Amino acid sequence: MATDMGNRSLPLGGAERGLASYAAGEAHSRGRRFREPPPKYRGEYQRDRDRIIHSAAFRRLEYKTQVFVNHEGDMFRTRLTHSIEVAQIARSVARTLHLNEDLSEAIALAHDLGHTPYGHAGQEALNACMKNYGGFEHNLQSLRVVDELEERYAEFSGLNLTFETREGVLKHCAAPKARELGELGRRFLDKQQPGLEAQLANLADEIAYNNHDVDDGLRAGLITLEQLQEIELFRAQYAEVMNAYPGLPSRRVIHETVRRMINRQVTDLVEASHARVDAVAPADIEAVRAHPAPLIGFSDAMREQNLELKRFLRHALYQHYRVQRMSAKARRVIGELFAVFMDDAHLLPPEQERAVLRLETQHGRAGRARAVADYIAGMTDRYAIAEHERVFNPQQLT
Ligand code: MG
Repeated sequence: MATDMGNRSLPLGGAERGLASYAAGEAHSRGRRFREPPPKYRGEYQRDRDRIIHSAAFRRLEYKTQVFVNHEGDMFRTRLTHSIEVAQIARSVARTLHLNEDLSEAIALAHDLGHTPYGHAGQEALNACMKNYGGFEHNLQSLRVVDELEERYAEFSGLNLTFETREGVLKHCAAPKARELGELGRRFLDKQQPGLEAQLANLADEIAYNNHDVDDGLRAGLITLEQLQEIELFRAQYAEVMNAYPGLPSRRVIHETVRRMINRQVTDLVEASHARVDAVAPADIEAVRAHPAPLIGFSDAMREQNLELKRFLRHALYQHYRVQRMSAKARRVIGELFAVFMDDAHLLPPEQERAVLRLETQHGRAGRARAVADYIAGMTDRYAIAEHERVFNPQQLT
């Protein structure tokens, strides 16, 4: 249906109505790397979000995992559903605090774009492979995906996102790399903060993964309700559910408990952050950036409870022997693929071989390694296994 919005007297929605003075506003944006005309009916951060959703790296998140391998079961979180959960939490909190909901959503949806296959294990394996070539860090890789690797637009590589979205994607960065990154890296050298939307997306990420790992861990049978009784955050919400609904089937007990845990953490985050922002009263986003510490965060009590939960998950779930077996396999698959492609670039598909030769011409051996790492990091869990088979299994014809 063809409509001409311009001829109507519809009240068009402003993307940034009702924002706090310290929120990220388009008027104060540091802009995009390549100048573009402004979008007609969207805000700049809405455009960032839309570009992220339409990217190839975003679609691949469906087949990448954090703790479990993608094909272990259809019920577990993937990086895609994780990113959507992070965006949901970030948007709720942003709206409550009068921050820029579109920006926090864009950051949340982009934050894991650079993740390797096989979650933490894959990242460690690739980092070990890249030890002599500048290392591999998924956070920096997310930035590399949105700045360089996506090939979709006629006039630039990457997605040409706004500074504020890129600032949010780059959560941490060591000093030598920060120096290379110019304006974006400067805050790591000057010990400054990112905007509140970026701070928020970071916390939303933590809330999402801690809670869904409890849920997935229970479903997988790797952790038990008895073990979780040791954890204050779980125990209190669990007791509340059991009191209110004695005899409730365990699947529902778990969900009622986990939703209360998320709610407790989000409520605490809103209230503690609000109090901190109120006390400091930053005039604008530059005052937020210049403040010596982040303003978005839990209360001290909740930070302690959150740490206790994280310690538990590290010990009981991430170091569980079944997770460790998977990690060992991941290390082997990634290590072997890296070595074989470093050794012989002709084994790569033509597009990747061209990237290897291009980066090798520019940066020598480290450039070659970076291009191989880009290829491996872009793989989904199942693609990495299939590629490993194609390269190493003599029974498999190409
Ligand atoms: Mg994440």
